[in-house]
Amino acid sequence: MHRYVSAASLFLYALPSSACPGHYRRGENGTAIPQTYQVQTRIKPATPTATVAITNVRVWDGYKVNEPSTVYIAGDSISGVQSTVDQSIDGRNGILLPGLIDAHAHPGSVQDLETLSSYGVTTVLNQNCQNYEYCSSMRGQTGLTSFFTAGFSAKGPGSSHANNSDTPLDKLIWEPSQAPAYVQYVFGNGSDWLKVVSEQNGPDQATQNALVENAHALGKKVNTHCSLVEFYNMAILSKSDGPQHIPMDGVLNDTMLDLMYSQKQYATPTMNVFYDQLHDPAAVAALGQPAIPFEEAWSVIKQNVAAVYAKGIPVLAGTDSTTPYAGLSVSFGNSLHYELWHLYQAGLPTEDILRAATILPALHHGLPHRGAIEEGMLADLVLLEPDADPIQAINDTMKISRVWIGGLEYMNVAK
Ligand SMILES: [Zn+2]
Repeated sequence: MHRYVSAASLFLYALPSSACPGHYRRGENGTAIPQTYQVQTRIKPATPTATVAITNVRVWDGYKVNEPSTVYIAGDSISGVQSTVDQSIDGRNGILLPGLIDAHAHPGSVQDLETLSSYGVTTVLNQNCQNYEYCSSMRGQTGLTSFFTAGFSAKGPGSSHANNSDTPLDKLIWEPSQAPAYVQYVFGNGSDWLKVVSEQNGPDQATQNALVENAHALGKKVNTHCSLVEFYNMAILSKSDGPQHIPMDGVLNDTMLDLMYSQKQYATPTMNVFYDQLHDPAAVAALGQPAIPFEEAWSVIKQNVAAVYAKGIPVLAGTDSTTPYAGLSVSFGNSLHYELWHLYQAGLPTEDILRAATILPALHHGLPHRGAIEEGMLADLVLLEPDADPIQAINDTMKISRVWIGGLEYMNVAK
């Protein structure tokens, strides 16, 4: 087993200070905090070939919960009616959901995929690839959460993300003429989409525009980190497909919302990480920032999420969960269920919250064969306990009875 030590560039989370809004440095001494990524091999189970019937389940079809029926699995996919089955499982009248998707996370090991699996998160979108060999090793883990990944985040010199991850100059970008080579570097290494970091000292507007244009020319999507209004607006103007996080320092105005809507952009607000860190004095201290009143920031965040949703802009569920990093950590799996709760607190209806964690990320990231319970889809399924009804109480998604990933049941389900 090879072990790679590299620096993470996670959330980020620029906590604004009154002295210098929108800018922070982790450790004024410039110390970068290393994070270990492990390139791992694992004895993978064989792809299933059996047929399974899950009887007496109420399927949530993306719009409503249906009358009890039987769902069939053939191999790794959902199938039509099978006349003979190898295994029959009584769903006990529980609701069956498509496997959940975390649209913004930073898993650091196969163990993180196991934790995600145990909470019914069957697909995870890794929002920065710090090491391409590591990212490649995380793909195709039969029976565990599917891993899709951004490339190495596009960061500017002197930015907090560049400083925190000790990124060498030749991996940074500061002018539009560098964009074609940068985009080639990202997609030449097999990344699924381009990640850009819009922040103080990050790529300027022209450079962000050029990055997006070059990625789109290859038919690829772009996600952009931006947690303050100024940088969120730059992401909108760049035509990035999905601005990540949500401004915590001010409200999105109608011009920005109109543009997001007309450009068919989506939002992945990651309320979870804001909630986590704004409540954690140690996290705030590690970020080298004074604490700002939780209620103040949280009210702005909720207002922005509500405004995006009200505009008709798709909202995707993401957590920014990460392996421990400088005393900060955001847990995997359960955090997606917390995100659903936060979206509910922002006023979204439960049906749209379930879509935010299933079909919407599948559609907007172009993830094949997932996000819905239909014939031909991967058999990524979450069976809830008989008394659970997330349409009535969103966090009933945590009352998990059984989980299947690509037709294989994940057996160590956290309850
Ligand atoms: Zn992140």
